Amino acid sequence: MATIEQEHRRSELVIALGALRVRLADACVAAGRPARTVTMIAVTKTHPAVDVATLVQLGIRDVGENRDQEAAVKRGEVQQLLTATAEAEQELRWHFVGRLQSRKCRSVAGYAHAVHSVDRIGLVALLANAVDLALRRPLEIFVQVSLDGDPARGGAFGSAVFSIADAVAERPELRLRGVMAVAPLGVEPQDAFARLAEVSTALSAQHPGADAISAGMSTDFEAAIGHGSTHVRIGSALLGRRTPEFR
Ligand SMILES: *Cc1c(COP(=O)(O)O)cnc(C)c1O
Repeated sequence: MATIEQEHRRSELVIALGALRVRLADACVAAGRPARTVTMIAVTKTHPAVDVATLVQLGIRDVGENRDQEAAVKRGEVQQLLTATAEAEQELRWHFVGRLQSRKCRSVAGYAHAVHSVDRIGLVALLANAVDLALRRPLEIFVQVSLDGDPARGGAFGSAVFSIADAVAERPELRLRGVMAVAPLGVEPQDAFARLAEVSTALSAQHPGADAISAGMSTDFEAAIGHGSTHVRIGSALLGRRTPEFR
């Protein structure tokens, strides 16, 4: 039996997800794009496995995390929670969206369906070598782009984006999907996402098919969808505030 607290949390998630689906649909209409061209990734960092399991029961299939240690543990917990339910067979896709340290590549490649934060060429071989081709499809890769060149916030800048993409495309264990960015502080999201769309166009000219754009978070995903985002990464608008807030 679920406790009152569990029922309440489930209701919160039902309401937040419903509201988000309306916002997403409205943004797609405004952009003149079919809703199926946008994947919503639920970014569940700092929130417990039971929330992920509830979201899966509500139809979410894409889950994002930004820290390897937290993601690896949570994935096991979610699998256990879902074992007893009809959703157990459904495929959940885990997206790694955070800063990626070299020493975490092996672990992340073990459970991630996609890595959105590849911003250094050195990560490419580490990830590719860690993919077990016998068991898995290629690991999907988004090259993280810095839109302002500030190294503190992650992302590759300028021509580095293209050399990383070339290196990814050479490895059969990886599948180059496209670009990812976080709108820099102090820049209008519209301007940031327009810039990212230009990078995406240039990249997919060199790598046909690598046309996905991972952009847009709780407060700015409408602008991102207006500029062609195919993967929005939604945390707080779905799951509520995180503590500590800076994560
Ligand atoms: C936390 C996080 C998100 C989600 O942020 P919200 O503002 O809570 O929607 C998206 N992308 C990345 C890379 C994140 O770390």
